[in-house]
Amino acid sequence: TLAAAGAEGVGLFPSEHLFTEGTKTPKEEEQFACYRAIADAIAPMRLDVRLFDIGGDKLLYSPVKEINPNLGWRGIRILLDLPEILDTQIRAILQANTHGNIDSLIPMVMSLHEIRTVRESVERQFAELQAERDGQITQPGIGAMIELPAAVELIEEITQCVDFISIGTNDLTQYTLAVDRNNVIVQDLFDRFHPAVMRQVHRIIQVANKNHCCAMMCGDMASDSLALPFLLGCGLRNFSVVVSEIAELKAHVARYALAETEALAQESLALNNPAAIKARLEAFQAAH
Ligand code: PEP
Ligand code: MG
Repeated sequence: TLAAAGAEGVGLFPSEHLFTEGTKTPKEEEQFACYRAIADAIAPMRLDVRLFDIGGDKLLYSPVKEINPNLGWRGIRILLDLPEILDTQIRAILQANTHGNIDSLIPMVMSLHEIRTVRESVERQFAELQAERDGQITQPGIGAMIELPAAVELIEEITQCVDFISIGTNDLTQYTLAVDRNNVIVQDLFDRFHPAVMRQVHRIIQVANKNHCCAMMCGDMASDSLALPFLLGCGLRNFSVVVSEIAELKAHVARYALAETEALAQESLALNNPAAIKARLEAFQAAH
């Protein structure tokens, strides 16, 4: 079970996996049953349901062939254009949230308007459901994925209007470096240790902590043991990783003193190239 593996919740449930046969939108009942079963099984631990992150490289949803799907119709953009899909998902989440342990996470956030629209949908569906039934339902927390440089620029405002943020380092690396995460020709350039990525990660965590907005990381960087002391030094305390990696990461955490990770973070942030940053982190790891 999750608790036995050392988990404290489900940091990212990729709900787009419920799409079957490519583009078939899962029905409200089907979604409800799925979210309810997981939330029930893990309560009082939290379940963060990522709203459908369809499009892009994940799932071909668009009726037209997109030349640049990663820069195209993807994530929250689709949900805003097709509000019945968003509203149905929110209804399913609300009805499943009888323990009050479900959060919704918005993928590909680019602007505050997208967060407001999701909040309005939650409030509208909540009012309707309350009128329909007497059972207790609770609104889910609302979180924003920070995976676009635009969201990093707006991090001050975003962290003031959501319950939590989750840093998607895979897309943040892709969009910061303009390197397609699936393009084999430029895979060498896809580097989470690029200072532009590292400095954004630091800034996101610092601003979130200052604004008392819970910060989590869910991209591959969260399970990279080389990055771990840097992230701790930046002030990150919530990591979403695959279950099999929890024990090893916790063992690493136990070896570090907070003050030395903070010094490491400052030293790494002063370096201006990926090779130097990696060398510094490797030296730190070797010394522990
Ligand atoms: C990410 O972008 O880092 C992320 C967690 O989401 P995905 O890899 O599913 O796009
Ligand atoms: Mg992503």
